[in-house]
Formats: sequence, C-alpha cells, structure tokens
Amino acid sequence: MGLIVVSNREPYAPKRGEAGQLAWVPSIGGLTAALDPALQRSGGTWIAWGEERPEVGEVDLPQGAPRYRLKRLRLSEAEVRDFYYGFANRALWPMSHYFIGRATYQTSTWRTYVNVNRRFAQAAVESFRTGDLIWVHDYQLALVPRLIREALPDARIGFFWHIPWPSTEVFRTLPWDRELLEGLLGADLIGMHTDEYVAHFLSACRRVLGAETEGNTVRWQGRESRVVARPIGIEVETYEALAANPEVEEAADRIRRTLQTQILLGVDRLDYTKGIPERLEAFDAFLDRHPEARRRVTLLQIAVPSRERVESYRQLRAQVEGLVGRINGKHTRDGWSPVQYIYRGVPREELVAHYRAADVMLVTPLRDGLNLVAKEFVASSRDGVLILSRFAGAADELPEALQVNPYNVDGLAEALLEALRMPLDEKKARLQRLRERLRQSDLHAWAEGFLRELAGT
Ligand code: UDP
Repeated sequence: MGLIVVSNREPYAPKRGEAGQLAWVPSIGGLTAALDPALQRSGGTWIAWGEERPEVGEVDLPQGAPRYRLKRLRLSEAEVRDFYYGFANRALWPMSHYFIGRATYQTSTWRTYVNVNRRFAQAAVESFRTGDLIWVHDYQLALVPRLIREALPDARIGFFWHIPWPSTEVFRTLPWDRELLEGLLGADLIGMHTDEYVAHFLSACRRVLGAETEGNTVRWQGRESRVVARPIGIEVETYEALAANPEVEEAADRIRRTLQTQILLGVDRLDYTKGIPERLEAFDAFLDRHPEARRRVTLLQIAVPSRERVESYRQLRAQVEGLVGRINGKHTRDGWSPVQYIYRGVPREELVAHYRAADVMLVTPLRDGLNLVAKEFVASSRDGVLILSRFAGAADELPEALQVNPYNVDGLAEALLEALRMPLDEKKARLQRLRERLRQSDLHAWAEGFLRELAGT
C-alpha cells in the first residue's frame, strides 16, 4: 500500500552545485521531517508546487537511494499571485486567524484557487493505485479532497488543516463558505490541532451546510467524515541532542557573553498574527515600570522575512522596525540597548543556540494554529521559562508555561517580571513536565498515528 502526499510546499528543493550538478536538499519544516520518512517507508508520490527553479517536473527521492517520486506542479506567475498570495494568504489566512478586517475576498482569486486545486487533485488521481492512502495538507488545498473523491469514490483520503479553524461567525464571512466545507468533506479523516478547532468546524458544517453531526462524525451527501484533534509534535530527541552538542553550547555561551544580560527571546515569522508589536510595547512598559531592569535584560527578537509581496506584511515590518527604533532610542544607556533585532531566518543549530541562551522565551501570538517554536524551546532549554499566549494552539498541551493574554500589555509585563524572578528549581520542574508531555506525542508518532487512523477508517 503506497502513500500519496499532496502539499503546497515541496519536501526537497533543487540547488545547483558549483559544477552545475543538481542537488535535492530537504526543506526545513515539520511536514518534510514528518512525512519524508513515512513516504520513504511506504513508497509513493509527493505532489507539490515546484517553486524553486530549475523546472524539473518529476524526480525520484532521496537522491541516490530513491524511495518515492516528487511530482512538481509548475504554477504560472498569475497563478502564484492569485492562488497563493491572493486567495490563500489574503483571504483564508487572515479569516482563519480572526483578522477579517485584513481579509480580501475577491472572485478572481477564488477562481484561480479552484483551478489550482483542480490541478493538484488531478495529479493525485493520476498517481493513484488501488489501495493507496492519500494525505492532503493545509489551507491552500482545501478543495482537493472533494475533487479527488469525484474521480476516486473509494479512495481513502485524509486532510490536515494546520492553521486555526475560527468560530462559525467568522468563518461565515467567507463568500465561499459552503464550497470550502464541501471540499474538505471529500476526506474520510480531517485532522486539526485542537479540540476547539474541531468543535468550530463541526458547528460550521451544521450551520452553513445543514449537515448532521454525531460526535466527531459529519454526515453529508451520503458520506461520512471524521474530524479529530491531533496536534503535530516535534522531534524532541533531535532538539535535545542538538542543544547538548558542544558547538551549540559554545554558540549559546557566545550569545550570553556578547549581551551580558538576561535574555528574553522572540522567534517568529514576521506575520501580523504573531503579536510582535504588542510584545515590544509590553517590554517598553516593563522597562518604564522597572527601571532597575535596565542594563540587566535584553529582548532579542528574530524576525523571519515572510510574504513580502503582500502589502500588510510590508507595513508590519515598517511598524516593528519603527517600534524597535523608538524603544531603543528611549531606553539605551551606557552601551546597553534593550532590543536586539535580527531580520533573517537562522539555521537550526543557531536557532537552538538561541533557545539555549534564553532566560525567557516569549511566544505571544494573537492567534496561532499551533506554534512549533514553543515546543522547540521546551525541548532545547535547560532552565528557561516559556511565556505562552493562550491563543496559540499549543497552549492546551503546555499548561506549565506562563500563559498570557497577548492583548493585555500590563499582564504581559507582569508575566515578564514573574519569569525573570522564578526560582531555578521551579523553572526546571516546569520544563521537565512540559518536556515529558512532548515526548509522548512526537512528530513521527503524529504522522504514523494519523496514517494508521486513515487506513482504519
Ligand atoms: N525557524 C527556522 N529559522 C528561523 C526561525 C524559525 O528554521 O530563523 C523554524 C522553527 O524552527 C519552526 C518554524 O520555523 O519549526 C516556525 O513554525 P511555527 O509553527 O512556530 O510558526 P509558522 O511560521 O509555521 O507560523
């Protein structure tokens, strides 16, 4: 029995070597780490947008010891603009994160979204052999399950929605609410990160479609779909091992020696869902209220460039950089500056060195499907404190973190004080309990568990 994975991002990207040869390099991210081993075991096909040049249609992977085939769909410039930046990132992304004021609902981008989803579905149908499991991923491809179902009535199709599923009152603002639900209900098994997202989804099926639900099952047009909360995990042992690696330890020491203060760390894609301006404001308020903390603490913010073709992301960058400048201008004294701002993505070793160096990790999104950074910090830190937004999907699984409301600047400033004053044994005890829970459902268990459930449906 083979596996067909359908996702927007490709698991490996082509890179030209110095001699002109093509190397296929694994992409960073949970999906590749989880599904590449699963596909290598079962064999099959991964269908994705062939974003990186050169344009190679199909390739067997991993290079040198191939186990499965990557089919790379080529999208035109207009398709990328309307399907990816347009509908997925300017309609579905803000709507799902409760930012309806930022959502742009345009018929033209919706049409492209439908057409591109059709192309992904068609590629899956062409690759399918009897008995294969099909697993489709995320909000860019919500219509794919139903489109596949129309061609393959008996196939076993799974879907994972990686971002929040909002309350029905928000979801219903989408002009194509029915179409989106019907697209997803082509799947036998639909996974989301939290019970709350599942409850919202079931409610949308009843309210928008008038579908019947019983427990976690939706009945619609003679078919049944099961909707389950299965939060994605991380490779806990990989992070633990990396964090204990002498070179990473040395890099962490270097960061501490350079700053010579306690370190508050933020690591986010520069996205308006991540609450970066609110975090900066809270830090400013904290410094105002606790002048004794000046010169003793630094906020190190890593902001990874993201979706820069979308205007609201460019505006956010200007806002964040303005705030960093204002706060540094106000509080800088004697060679100490309160905010260190890094505007680039960093490789995993460097990231773990930062996790290791941090006294306090600030994960304060206004809304986040899950948030892997929080889990990675827990697996990497020895005696740090996690401050976590109650609006991150991961909050359910991480109750020993200091949980905050990111809109409450005063509460956030208080949590900072509590974190900085927390006794060492309490910090360690909290981290240990958090880490134990992460170990129980790591990334590979997540992928294998979902596939087992799908095979059994
Ligand atoms: N990450 C990275 N380099 C960076 C910053 C982040 O590789 O400089 C990775 C990080 O390890 C994590 C992912 O990017 O696995 C971010 O995932 P998360 O769920 O926190 O947020 P998303 O960006 O998916 O909204």
